[in-house]
Amino acid sequence: MYTFSERPGSLLFQELNRDEIGRWAPDATVILPVAAIEQHGPHLPVWTDSLLAESITLQAAALANEEIPILVCPVVTYGSSHHHLIYPGAMSLSNDTLIGVLRDLTDSLVSSGFRRIYLINSHGGNEECVRLAARELALRHPVIAGAVSYWTIAWDQIVQEGQAGRLGIVPGHAGGFETSLLLALRPDLVRTELLPLPNLRPIPSTPRDPSTGPLIQRHGSWAEIDGYSDDAGSASAESGQKLLEIISRTLAAEFVRFHQFKLN
Ligand SMILES: [Zn+2]
Repeated sequence: MYTFSERPGSLLFQELNRDEIGRWAPDATVILPVAAIEQHGPHLPVWTDSLLAESITLQAAALANEEIPILVCPVVTYGSSHHHLIYPGAMSLSNDTLIGVLRDLTDSLVSSGFRRIYLINSHGGNEECVRLAARELALRHPVIAGAVSYWTIAWDQIVQEGQAGRLGIVPGHAGGFETSLLLALRPDLVRTELLPLPNLRPIPSTPRDPSTGPLIQRHGSWAEIDGYSDDAGSASAESGQKLLEIISRTLAAEFVRFHQFKLN
């Protein structure tokens, strides 16, 4: 086992060797980012959710690493995206498959010796699967498991401090919110010449977290809105950078809080 001052030189699970992981695992919180590959309108790459998952969890872990031992796993790049199969670009797992993938990966982390495992989700379609995976993990093993979507854990901060509602639907899909985050992270991947997109539906005046409250699903609705939630015309790199800082800071505090829970 490492002491905190002897921690390995990288936060990235994949950069450590087996001995480093084995020594670090019992004391560390390990983060499993879960994302998707799917269309994000005509202007964003299909990699959007995976890039966000990777960037947000790494930035948050770097902050949390000043207080707690923490590692970030490679992103689970493929998620539950069957609702996007009507467009090119989705590489989707069914919900049953995704739950099985998360079960196997989290069991693998337990086999490596980890006891604090947090799944961070970046894609709305994964929501229930990720939470179920954490719930069942803590039933199978004497561990502490967590699961949350990044917009939910930082909801109050992104809506109030970050004024995310001015950009479009939060988090929406390929709208002003996600486009701002991409403009901050990888502007070379954003087709800004296509913006704004046709505005296909009204933006609610009060943002509402889609991960809370009733779940309403209407067959065929993704085709009606051409696969994006809002026109992204208000998106900016400056807004995206501010939101990334808010989200990372809030998520880092959550990692520290999670690490303090007592193990049985
Ligand atoms: Zn997305």
